[in-house]
Amino acid sequence: MRFQKISLQGSPPHLNMLEQSMPKRSNASEFIKFANINFPPECDFACPQCCQYKPREKSSESGAKEYVKFSEQYLKFLRLCNSLGARTFAVMGEGEPLLHMDMLRTCIEKAHGLGMFTIIFTNGSKIDREKVAFFKIHDVSLVFNTPSLYPETYAQLVGRKYSLEKIIGKLRLVLEIYGEDAMRKCGEYRVGRVATNTVVNARNKAEIPLMEDRLKALLGPLSKRIIKVINFPLKMGRAALDENKAIFAGRYENEYLEFMELARKYSDLHGPTALFAGKCGYLTQGATIGYEGSIIPCPYATAMTGRFGHIHEIDDANALKEAILKVSESWAKLRGYCLMRAFQNEL
Ligand code: SF4
Repeated sequence: MRFQKISLQGSPPHLNMLEQSMPKRSNASEFIKFANINFPPECDFACPQCCQYKPREKSSESGAKEYVKFSEQYLKFLRLCNSLGARTFAVMGEGEPLLHMDMLRTCIEKAHGLGMFTIIFTNGSKIDREKVAFFKIHDVSLVFNTPSLYPETYAQLVGRKYSLEKIIGKLRLVLEIYGEDAMRKCGEYRVGRVATNTVVNARNKAEIPLMEDRLKALLGPLSKRIIKVINFPLKMGRAALDENKAIFAGRYENEYLEFMELARKYSDLHGPTALFAGKCGYLTQGATIGYEGSIIPCPYATAMTGRFGHIHEIDDANALKEAILKVSESWAKLRGYCLMRAFQNEL
């Protein structure tokens, strides 16, 4: 039997739970809880569900030099967010963050030094023993992109001939190294640090009710240490392109509602990791910068780049607070929980 209440370490429900069970930090601001940074947009996969329109390969050496400048801005952003109350650093938008391990390592060390958790969304391809050992001791939670647990569908939905077997091997490695830390009891919750993330679509929807059994078949007893997250598609980026619409956007609104219902019913979190009290915590309780430092409403709202200024222009926590208040006007009318998955009439 699955646990009654499960939460991903560092996610909105987990932080809200900690807040209720722990004394408030003296002199600390409680303005935000999340510092979201998009890493550079290159990826070795080409998933049709991505918020980016085109897959980008890893950049040239000169691009890599540019990124050194970005990482200084990332560290400043983490420091300012932390002074506004942020307790989690999250990397979840475009691109595969493990392709930029030096930069990621520096940011995780900074976040850890500030007493923050980290959450990383990854396709898993660059996971290895050394990285996992680092993640384990730096309070990192890992969310693996698993659009399917069947080899053929998996390859179709990551857009590359990549083997599911390899990814399951990486997931097994993480679960073995994290050991009991992968899932522990914390008050009335079970708090986990390893999750699979599956976006429901027309191609995989029949698999969703079978996922728990399939994970057991692939990973044996280790599968009990995984949080199974089921999500429904963004309504922008590559999923919204004509060639992908039939799979992701739903041929009819009814089908999209069916995707939402499957996510609600079969996700261990009753939906995405974001959800808290009917709202997206990353959006309503966080601050986000795109990979080049632009302030944006949420990690997937890259289309709003340039509208809210840049972390270069911000020198102190008050200035960041003002920028965040300006951003919140962009989602203030949101009735549903997600800016990027809203039906037009929800905005
Ligand atoms: S608003 Fe939607 S897409 Fe953006 S972080 Fe929240 S759940 Fe994700």
